[in-house]
Amino acid sequence: MSRARARVISIANQKGGVGKTTTTINLATALAATGKRVLIIDMDPQGNASTGLGIDRHQRELGTYDVLFAETTVEEAAVATHVPNLSVVTATVDLSGAEIELVNAERREYRLRIALANSALNFDYVLVDCPPALGLLTLNALVASDAVMVPLQCEFYALEGLSHLIRTIERVKRAFNPGLDIHGVVLTMYDKRNNLSDMVAADVRGFFGDKVYDTVIPRNVKVSEAPSHGKPVLIYDLRCPGSQAYIHLASEVLKREKKRLTA
Ligand code: ADP
Ligand code: MG
Repeated sequence: MSRARARVISIANQKGGVGKTTTTINLATALAATGKRVLIIDMDPQGNASTGLGIDRHQRELGTYDVLFAETTVEEAAVATHVPNLSVVTATVDLSGAEIELVNAERREYRLRIALANSALNFDYVLVDCPPALGLLTLNALVASDAVMVPLQCEFYALEGLSHLIRTIERVKRAFNPGLDIHGVVLTMYDKRNNLSDMVAADVRGFFGDKVYDTVIPRNVKVSEAPSHGKPVLIYDLRCPGSQAYIHLASEVLKREKKRLTA
């Protein structure tokens, strides 16, 4: 089946609160700042990516639901954000029912992939913010993606549930999308005052080797404040450590992308 022209990267981890949405928004913003045309697809019915980009519920007309079920193109559904070069396909209320509606939908694992193959022509990168579950919405994201990025929170239970995620990625590769890669693992909410953070980081690097990005996202209050202002932290406070870390992450992502193209 044909692929989207944009590079599609899912941000996935079935655990909630590990930094998926924060990473999606801020990586997207940093990529957009380099001149890339970036689209976020908000695949989480909670709609945190949409809200965090300042798109209130009442401003959302067409969204991810329509892309999945109504043959709406992503271009039709995409809403411009305040960040130049960054658009978002929002989560509308009907996305809450999508997980169940997908069960009996035709080609249920492929719906996002089909939508992206027929649209998203005007974007360089599509980042898909996944919900905290390994259901059909996340499956659609993985089947539509070239690569998956896994945020891991630097806490004691970071690795718990990870083997399930890796098995799911392997299964998607075998059954639906042989081209799917793990782009990388990003350590989030690192606290340098907490020894545990270092232990977890070392553990994760032991397990994933150089799949783990060098960049570690620090725990930073500015990062958690920014969404309530409807802004990426890069816009809210460019100089704070969280923003600087996401700029570093974006440059690492672009380096890996370049390496892939020359390989
Ligand atoms: P997920 O999408 O995986 O559920 P979020 O990105 O929404 O996770 O992050 C969970 C919570 O942690 C949010 O309130 C967010 O603002 C906060 N958070 C995420 N990253 C950081 C960070 N680096 N420093 C401080 N707070 C953070
Ligand atoms: Mg989220």
